[in-house]
Amino acid sequence: MEVMENLKTRVFKFGDNSADGNSSMKNLLGGKGANLAEMSAIGIPVPPGFTITTEVCTEYNLLGEEATINLLKDEVEQAIENIESLMGSKYGDEENPLLISVRSGARVSMPGMMDTVLNLGLNDRSVIGLAYKTKNDRFAWDSYRRFIQMYGSVVLGMKPESKEDIDPFEEIMEHLKEKRRIQLDTEFTVQDLKDLVYDFKDAVKKRTGHDFPTNPWDQLWGAVIAVFNSWNGDRALYYRKMHGYPADWGTAVNVQAMVYGNMGDNSGTGVCFTRDAGTGENQFNGEYLINAQGEDVVAGVRTPQQITKTGSKRWAELAQVEEHNRIANYPSLEELMPEIYKELDGYQKKLELHYRNMQDMEFTIQEGKLWILQTRNGKRTGAAMVKIAIDLYKERLITDKEALLLMEPNKLDELLHPVFDLKALKKAHSIAQGLPASPGAATGQLVFFADEADKFKYTILARIETSPEDLEGMHIAKGILTARGGMTSHAAVVARGMGKCCISGAGALKIDYKNRTMTVDGKEYHEGDWISLNGSTGHIIEGKVATVEPELSGEFAELMDISDRYATMEVRTNADTPKDAKIARSFGAQGIGLTRTEHMFFEVDRIKAMREMILADTVKGRKRALAELLPMQRSDFEGIFEAMHDLPVTIRLLDPPLHEFVPHQLETQKVLADDMHISLQAVKNKVAELEEFNPMLGHRGCRLGNTYPEITEMQTRAIIEAALNLKAKDIVAKPEIMIPLVGAYNEYVEQERIIRETADKVFNERNDKIEFLVGTMIEIPRAALMADVIAERAEFFSFGTNDLTQMTFGYSRDDANKFLPIYLAKGILKQDPFEVLDQEGVGQLVEMGTKKGRQTKPNLKVGICGEHGGEPSSVEYCYRVGMDYVSCSPFRVPIARLSSAQAAIKNAS
Ligand code: ADP
Ligand code: MG
Ligand code: MG
Repeated sequence: MEVMENLKTRVFKFGDNSADGNSSMKNLLGGKGANLAEMSAIGIPVPPGFTITTEVCTEYNLLGEEATINLLKDEVEQAIENIESLMGSKYGDEENPLLISVRSGARVSMPGMMDTVLNLGLNDRSVIGLAYKTKNDRFAWDSYRRFIQMYGSVVLGMKPESKEDIDPFEEIMEHLKEKRRIQLDTEFTVQDLKDLVYDFKDAVKKRTGHDFPTNPWDQLWGAVIAVFNSWNGDRALYYRKMHGYPADWGTAVNVQAMVYGNMGDNSGTGVCFTRDAGTGENQFNGEYLINAQGEDVVAGVRTPQQITKTGSKRWAELAQVEEHNRIANYPSLEELMPEIYKELDGYQKKLELHYRNMQDMEFTIQEGKLWILQTRNGKRTGAAMVKIAIDLYKERLITDKEALLLMEPNKLDELLHPVFDLKALKKAHSIAQGLPASPGAATGQLVFFADEADKFKYTILARIETSPEDLEGMHIAKGILTARGGMTSHAAVVARGMGKCCISGAGALKIDYKNRTMTVDGKEYHEGDWISLNGSTGHIIEGKVATVEPELSGEFAELMDISDRYATMEVRTNADTPKDAKIARSFGAQGIGLTRTEHMFFEVDRIKAMREMILADTVKGRKRALAELLPMQRSDFEGIFEAMHDLPVTIRLLDPPLHEFVPHQLETQKVLADDMHISLQAVKNKVAELEEFNPMLGHRGCRLGNTYPEITEMQTRAIIEAALNLKAKDIVAKPEIMIPLVGAYNEYVEQERIIRETADKVFNERNDKIEFLVGTMIEIPRAALMADVIAERAEFFSFGTNDLTQMTFGYSRDDANKFLPIYLAKGILKQDPFEVLDQEGVGQLVEMGTKKGRQTKPNLKVGICGEHGGEPSSVEYCYRVGMDYVSCSPFRVPIARLSSAQAAIKNAS
């Protein structure tokens, strides 16, 4: 065992155009590590280093710090030696020190969710060696103060103490800036930087009770362990929960030779994208800063400059910077360092071609030499996702199937959100303009703290800048607004990833956290004030702006066309009204999988007749009330059939317990009593009589139709008459009548008999006929078990996975909020089974039901009509089970169509 453990490779080296790993090893090396290896191997200049595998993170969680370090020690020391020989310097040396970074990196990119420390290896002595070696005192001391700051915050826990407080190191810096009457970090003198180092270390000692670690190996192990710990930090936990990433993936640790963007005016650092992450436009873009390091660009402390000249001009127009000012103070990299730009442009093209996907890259220029520090498939908005994939396909970089597989179906949702009404927008008062960081329209009430994003129903989160701690609040807010930071700032990148409307770098805003105000041109806006954001133009607008439905054309339509080339499983919709049916049809729905008839009864003019029916004591009384409901139901069905002409429409007979329809308040009870000419007491008695201990398992579904057959009769008559009425107008209706909540064969048989007899009666009366099907929902476990028997008569099955999940788990959906969130937080359940179909458990019933049903009736039509029908992983599952269709809410139809196509492609081989 011992021996085996030690034979395992835990450290993978890269650098100097070679690597132990490659990009296919993301699970083991993390995305960042795998791509660093790949880039090194294909000749991109990457500073040498090594990756400690994600498996070690899991080992660390089991074994703890000491044992993990012992397991790693030999390999890490060897790998450091390798860097030393490539860089010609020595880790921990006082005269010729090698400095390194320790970077996190899980198998999927989680930007800013975990920790990274730069400039390890510095202490009071090596800083002097570094200054001497580089002949650059300023650089050496600037690196040292950054190191203490980062290490202090990440490894030693030097964080702000409350949300109104600023970072303890920032506070010291602000203090010194005030004293020295300067504004920028770059204005500090060497002596200032030395003072900062002294004060920083002092602050560390005061707060932690320990001296700042001077031994470079202590620094290294401290940082490695801190990176492992950050996998279980609050930010990472939240992000993992949001995306459903399991805890046992772990993070890798990348240790890499430092390269310096802060060595003066021929150095710098930046971030770039091979295409526009907001719109998808095929335009290389990004931001950089001269004489800066690492996170400076993303943190939005200084105003970053654009990489390309095109981008720079666009930016200047938005920021209202005159051309001469732009050239003097904010030139693009293309203009300032044309050689470096050319080289970078070459790498971005090479990397996009190599990965056949839009790349998001980090680079650093050290004294005129370009280094690439990271590449990954870039996060993008839903609109950009569609455009980029379709463009790559048209550019013949990828096939149509690959284009489909590049899409995350859920992100299509963003394209279906409302946009500002152009007319309303013309009248709107724009108070300022920032950068259009993430397109979209948002209206909400101002809040200034991420943890208060739920203070109002719709909020706009306004911050000076955002940080990874703000993630949850950013998710809740309708839109995000920052005063600082560029198109690659934290706020911008995260918002695009979420598909959330965002305006960044609106320099005209003065945000005051203490007073919770935002001031623009002397006018003050307070918490709770309504603000609108146009993320596509960067306009910040006072008050609310009306919205309209978006237009879906261009690339979206092409995407849907390609989907239909491959999707074999159909997509229907759940729709209760002609309006919903029309919307769904415009999104490509191929029929209705579920029409719930009860919703029709809740409307004002109908609920009265419905209540009379329920309160009636005799069959005769019930029939009289039902006769009033008949024409209303018939016209509802006519509307739906017409909207869905030529396509199948599944109608479910009355399903909910009757007590949902009766009045529970004294006032309404009185009105009902008067209307019906009965006593209040009689109404009260009836309401009490309908009360159930467990309505979910009570008198509902086909149990209603089996005890009150006249309800089934009326509904069948309404359906058949509606279809015949349309036939007379040459409109083809294809009803599929669905009996809910069947558990026993005879429950089905009894209802079916009534349906067929009623239909025949109507056919006779009209002397005309239509085709229709009768089938059932499979939503009680027993129905799945008895599916072979039920299929003797049923012509179709539709899995009602909401109830099926509820009854299989024994969780009442209406009460699950008391324990499900805790179960998810504790990891007792990995996913909410009401959102994502539980394939292992509930899935067994779905598979068995389908198989048994088709044993009896090989051409049995099978579909799903629960909430799961629009959830991508569940749709893929339904495909594998062999369903004919999934049915989902209208706005999820495009998502389901894409998911269905993806399922067919993925499962073809
Ligand atoms: P994240 O995953 O949050 O982006 P990174 O590990 O990429 O964190 O590092 C944070 C910043 O530090 C990035 O801007 C990165 O480019 C920079 N950085 C990391 N390692 C080095 C290095 N060896 N030399 C120079 N800059 C580095
Ligand atoms: Mg990074
Ligand atoms: Mg049900």
